[in-house]
Amino acid sequence: MSEAERTAERFRTYATVDATLAADLRAARPKRVALQVPAGLVRDAHLLAAQLGRDAGTDVVVVARPCFGACDFPTPDEVPGAEALVVLGHAPIPNVPLTLPTYFVEMRHPGGSAKALAQQVDAAGLPARLGLVASVQHLDLVAPLAEALGATGRTVRYGLGDRRLAYAAQALGCNYTGAEAIAGDVDAFLFVGTGRFHPLGLAFAVDRPVYALDPLQGTLDPPLDRGALIRKRQLLVASVREARRWGILVSTFPGQHRAGMARSMRERAAAHGREAEIILSGRIDPRDLEGRDLEAYVSTACPRIALDDAALYPRPVLTPPEFLMALGELPLEPYRFDTYH
Ligand code: SF4
Repeated sequence: MSEAERTAERFRTYATVDATLAADLRAARPKRVALQVPAGLVRDAHLLAAQLGRDAGTDVVVVARPCFGACDFPTPDEVPGAEALVVLGHAPIPNVPLTLPTYFVEMRHPGGSAKALAQQVDAAGLPARLGLVASVQHLDLVAPLAEALGATGRTVRYGLGDRRLAYAAQALGCNYTGAEAIAGDVDAFLFVGTGRFHPLGLAFAVDRPVYALDPLQGTLDPPLDRGALIRKRQLLVASVREARRWGILVSTFPGQHRAGMARSMRERAAAHGREAEIILSGRIDPRDLEGRDLEAYVSTACPRIALDDAALYPRPVLTPPEFLMALGELPLEPYRFDTYH
C-alpha cells in the first residue's frame, strides 16, 4: 500500500461537529482522543471536548497549541496516549502522511444567499470572466455562487489544484495551484472567505486582480495592489543582498517540514560564500530568534511567516524563491510565489 493510500485510510471528514462524528468515534473506540482547534475556536474548545467525550464515550483532551492549517496537527509525542485526533476547521492535506487516525471537521458554513452575493458582485462591476477560489469553510457556496454569477452574464471557472489540495476551488495560504490552473482563462479572481491572508497569497500567486468577498460580513473588497506588494518584497530582497550570515527556518510540523529544501538553501548559500545555519522549531516564534548573530532569515515553513508576519521578526525573513533572488540565482521578475506541493 502506498503512503497516499495509507494516509487516505487514516482520515475522515465532517462538515461540522455532529452525531456522525460521535458515532464514528464510538465505533472506532479510541481510549483517548486529542482535540485541536483553530485560535478562533479556543473559547469553546472545552465545551466541545466535554460534549464529544459524552457523545462518543471516550476521554477527550484539548491540545493547547491551536492549528493554523491541517499541516500542524499534533505529533504522537505531543499527545501521549491519544489514539485518534479530531482537528477542527481544516480539510485534510492529501499528501501529508498522518500519524494517527484523524477526524477533520471542516466547519463548513453555508455563507449568505448566493443570489444576493452575485448581485453585489454584479453591482461592483467585476469583470466578465471570473475565477472562484474559497477557503474550506466556504466551499459549499462555490457551486451556487458560480451559477448565480452565471445568471449575471459572467463566465465563472474554478480549478482543481495539486496533491496538496483536497477540493476543487480550494485554496491554502501555501498553495493556489487550483487558481493557477485557470488563471489564463479569467480576467480576475473572486476569493470567497474571511481574513486577508488568502487574498494576499493569491495576489502574489496569480497575475490577476483578486477581489475578496466575505460572505459572513457581506463585504466585497477591491483588489490589493499586486505591483506594490511585489515591489515591497523586491526592496526587501535588495536590502539583504549583501547579508553574509543567514538562518534557515525549518518547522517540524508534519505538513510544513521542508528539510530537503532547507539543506538545498544552505548549499546555495555556501556556493555564494554565505554562512547559513538551519534552525528547527515546531511553531516558529520570533522571540526564539532574538539575540542571534544572523543578518537575515529564509523561512521554509508556512509562507505566512515571511509574507504576513514579517513585522514581528527581528530581522528580514525571505521565502525560498526570494532567497534565490537575493543570491542572484533567480531574477526579481517575474516574482515567484513560494508554493508548497
Ligand atoms: S503551511 Fe501555512 S498556509 Fe499552508 S496549510 Fe499550513 S498554515 Fe496553511
